[in-house]
Amino acid sequence: MIRDILIIGSGITGLSAALSLSNHLSPLIPDLRITIFERHFVPSTSGGAIGLSPVAFRHLDHLGVLDELARFGPDAGADVDAIEIFSARTGKSLGQVDYKGKQGTGFSADNIYHGISGRTIRNQDGKKYKGGRVLRINLSLAMLAAIDKRPNIKIVFGKALSGVIPLDPANKVELVFKDNSTATGDLLLGCDGVHSATRRKFIDPGREAEYSRFSLVQSTIKTNSLRTSPHFRATSLNFSKSGTLLMAFCTKHHEDLFLSVMLECREEAVEGHTVHDDDDQSKRSMIKASLSHEVSLRYGQSSIPCIKEVAAHSDIDWMLYPIYQVPLGGKWFTERAILLGDAAHAMLPRDESAAYAIDDAIVFSRVLTQYIDLPLQKTFEVYDSLRRSEVTHAFQESSKLWKRRNKDAGAFESWIRERLVPLQIRHTESSRHAAFRSDASKVDIPPPPGTPKMVTKRNTSNTPSVLSSTSSFRSASKGGSSTSSGEPVAIDLVDVSGLAIR
Ligand SMILES: Cc1cc2nc3c(=O)[nH]c(=O)nc-3n(C[C@H](O)[C@H](O)[C@H](O)COP(=O)(O)OP(=O)(O)OC[C@H]3O[C@@H](n4cnc5c(N)ncnc54)[C@H](O)[C@@H]3O)c2cc1C
Repeated sequence: MIRDILIIGSGITGLSAALSLSNHLSPLIPDLRITIFERHFVPSTSGGAIGLSPVAFRHLDHLGVLDELARFGPDAGADVDAIEIFSARTGKSLGQVDYKGKQGTGFSADNIYHGISGRTIRNQDGKKYKGGRVLRINLSLAMLAAIDKRPNIKIVFGKALSGVIPLDPANKVELVFKDNSTATGDLLLGCDGVHSATRRKFIDPGREAEYSRFSLVQSTIKTNSLRTSPHFRATSLNFSKSGTLLMAFCTKHHEDLFLSVMLECREEAVEGHTVHDDDDQSKRSMIKASLSHEVSLRYGQSSIPCIKEVAAHSDIDWMLYPIYQVPLGGKWFTERAILLGDAAHAMLPRDESAAYAIDDAIVFSRVLTQYIDLPLQKTFEVYDSLRRSEVTHAFQESSKLWKRRNKDAGAFESWIRERLVPLQIRHTESSRHAAFRSDASKVDIPPPPGTPKMVTKRNTSNTPSVLSSTSSFRSASKGGSSTSSGEPVAIDLVDVSGLAIR
């Protein structure tokens, strides 16, 4: 019987997995112990703000995180009723992606689903969720507060995994940390993100993350540091011929404004433009000035005053976040260890990537609960069969969209793109709404052998991802900087790209 569960990483996946496992397994295993090991000494404060779709909010609510987030008051994040889309060139509104549903109150889960008994069950949970954007640190603290209420979850900071040793006769795994301490458990969950040590050193050695050629340049500023008024209600995507700038409030009363620009950027340039804790002031200033220059070249000519001001603002602390992905098709598990979240399937970011990570956590804990009396392998196989196709589909869609947009647009192409936006929004609305209604806690799980025969019907396989049909990142042409000024670009960012609705 499983008693000690070890989780590597306290990101969204690790914390969601701990909460979900505690929910599901506590009634079955009274002496259950879940321990999370995090390499940082304190929760990370970097990473700006995260956009969450209605489905991510539904799942965070199931895990008890929304109640904790609500305690943050104005810092609980900004509600998003719609993503408004503008032409940065002309200032015209091009349409909006709805996050509030027909009645304006959000999206509830699918009304009918197929229960484990095979019966059709009416979902009584009519709770509705809209979209939102919250500072990552606040989401993380809310999740930690929810963890704090579970006596069977412990989190240990400052423990970086360096190796895993299977203890075969005992059916256990032993973890070795960088400080040479060890821990032993019955089940290991590798939730340690895109560069996962669990994956690289144990489950699937050799499967390294690959740089996607894209990086995000991001910052959060005080709204009142701008002289001009923002031109949108909560979240805007601003198209230009060289990409899209995301501008979104991330606190309830809109005091804080999150900014995100996608850039195609050579891998060699990434290291030199990423800030490290031990970097001195002159390097930090050089990076800040270079990134600021890039943003100004791309958006300085916008006809929207607020965008123009942001592009000219020399005090914004822009940071570069390189985007890596984990190649498809690798192993997700061995005898007693499994990868969840970005560790298994980091992909080009889409606004609902976090929802995939939380889905993983909920589906895994539900499968483990049902298969608790069988060898762990069985749980892993069933989980893999439930998640693999959906994740593969999302990964491929995302890559396709990025490839399709991998060139800078000329004036005519950009004019056509803008014209197509309303059509694309309409065309993708039903699949987007279906994705907003999905619920990992209702996904049918095939019954363990020996249980009475049941009808199983999965309700999420290949559910179109929200942003595969709404927004995703787009890129620009290869080669040197395509910026109009012709000035050399100090930091060797090669091109311009951004979020786009396609
Ligand atoms: C720039 C950027 C912007 C994004 N924006 C959005 C967005 O707006 N909306 C959205 O839904 N998704 C977004 N995503 C995707 C989303 O952030 C990820 O899908 C999600 O954070 C994955 O969570 P995770 O817990 O699997 O991994 P991570 O968040 O990477 O967490 C992994 C944890 O493991 C720890 N760890 C790593 N190695 C070790 C080790 N050896 N020992 C111990 N601990 C270790 C790390 O310190 C970290 O705490 C974005 C991604 C990027 C890169």
